Amino acid sequence: MVRIVFLGPPGAGKGTQAVRLAEYLGVPHLSTGEMFRMAAERKTSIGLLAQEYFSTGRLVPDEVVIGVVQERLSDPDCSGGYLLDGFPRTLAQAKALDAILDQKETPLDRVIELTVAEEILIQRMLARGRADDTRQAVAKRFEEYAMQTKPLSEYYLERGWLVTVNGEGTPDEVFDRVKRTVGF
Ligand code: AMP
Repeated sequence: MVRIVFLGPPGAGKGTQAVRLAEYLGVPHLSTGEMFRMAAERKTSIGLLAQEYFSTGRLVPDEVVIGVVQERLSDPDCSGGYLLDGFPRTLAQAKALDAILDQKETPLDRVIELTVAEEILIQRMLARGRADDTRQAVAKRFEEYAMQTKPLSEYYLERGWLVTVNGEGTPDEVFDRVKRTVGF
């Protein structure tokens, strides 16, 4: 039973590492970005609303994201732990998550932050070719990250949950570091 949050700038390899670690630990991988992309494909009302934001690299409003995550966390497959990827991304989301988990008496175990030099991040993002990876959307995502998400490192450091992992190198190298740092 383990509850983990993955943090890191766009292009840090968060998604890749989160999928691998979730599989390794046998817990569901919860990616809010993935949830929004799927909802947009199915053209649900939340999906279409979210698409207006993610297609331009802006953050989806907190109340929408928090609602989606709260609902997902009460699914039975989350009772044995989970790995959150891409959530929280703002201080308001982090506080809402704490409140939800306090109520369930199931605090987070670990927050893993992947760090990668900025030049490498930009190269990786532009090579990835996802539909929301246009140059403008990429720039906006970096701006949102710096302003809204980066402060979460400090927040989780103060709570004693933060571990930082160097995200440079091949996916295998990074995964080895993740496993070692997390100590599972
Ligand atoms: P990702 O797949 O994590 O890169 O997320 C893709 C896009 O979905 C982001 O650029 C945001 O527009 C949106 N998104 C995903 N997670 C969140 C979140 N926690 N808060 C706000 N927007 C989000």
